[in-house]
Amino acid sequence: MFFVTMCPVCGGENRVEFADSSVHDVTCGACGARACVFVRKQKFEVLFDLGTRALMDGYAREAVASFAAALERFFEFYVRAFALERAADSAQEFGEALGLLEGTWRHVASQSERQLGMFALAYLLREGREPDFLTAKALGADFRNRVIHRGYLPRRAEVEEYAALVFGLIDRLLSGMGPVGVMQAELVQEQAFARHLEALPAGVTAVFEEHPGMFRARRFAPVPPGKSAASKGGSAPLNDAAAFARALDERGAGLSVFKVRAHRAGGEG
Ligand SMILES: [Zn+2]
Repeated sequence: MFFVTMCPVCGGENRVEFADSSVHDVTCGACGARACVFVRKQKFEVLFDLGTRALMDGYAREAVASFAAALERFFEFYVRAFALERAADSAQEFGEALGLLEGTWRHVASQSERQLGMFALAYLLREGREPDFLTAKALGADFRNRVIHRGYLPRRAEVEEYAALVFGLIDRLLSGMGPVGVMQAELVQEQAFARHLEALPAGVTAVFEEHPGMFRARRFAPVPPGKSAASKGGSAPLNDAAAFARALDERGAGLSVFKVRAHRAGGEG
């Protein structure tokens, strides 16, 4: 996935490929100035946006893999946020808590079934409820496996349905997460950025960016009273196709703007 970033020296637009680390070394094509662009975005957000872009561009089959990966990475984000929230509650030092978390995650990192198990327990301990949405049907697991492992060619409508299911699940869980845990989980990325920043050679400008995305806008917007999943006791429908359609309406354009702007010099900020 590409995005357009503005040169801090001449204001020219440069097209950059999104990096796994969210850290991008950029040399301006127009003036040659060097910049390091840090994009504040969690992996599940990047993957879900990538899936949405693929869907909008007509690559329905490719979109499925990104949506599925987004859900797995969101479960990881939830587990991390929960563990760090707990550590903060018990006044454990952040670095120590993070070290223990990283060590623990290594035991499950290569097997998604183990990660799902960790998520199930984290949800139970945090919400005091069974994660009854972890059924194959509610997760769209059969559809996902048919597409990814058996080469099934899905129709766009089927992928939209799957996207709506994943979106609804992440959106509901995200709005029920406490701000402390989310902040702590995001702090991990900030720390990685800080380490990179420290090692930047002289003459390289650091640029921090926040990109619009399917989740980000909602996460930082205040949740209207009575609208959050937490206050409704989790009764919001998991597969809320309308919520995905609304988000696509509101934010879909924000995702495609990168591509449009890449071909059009001097587009709006
Ligand atoms: Zn420049």
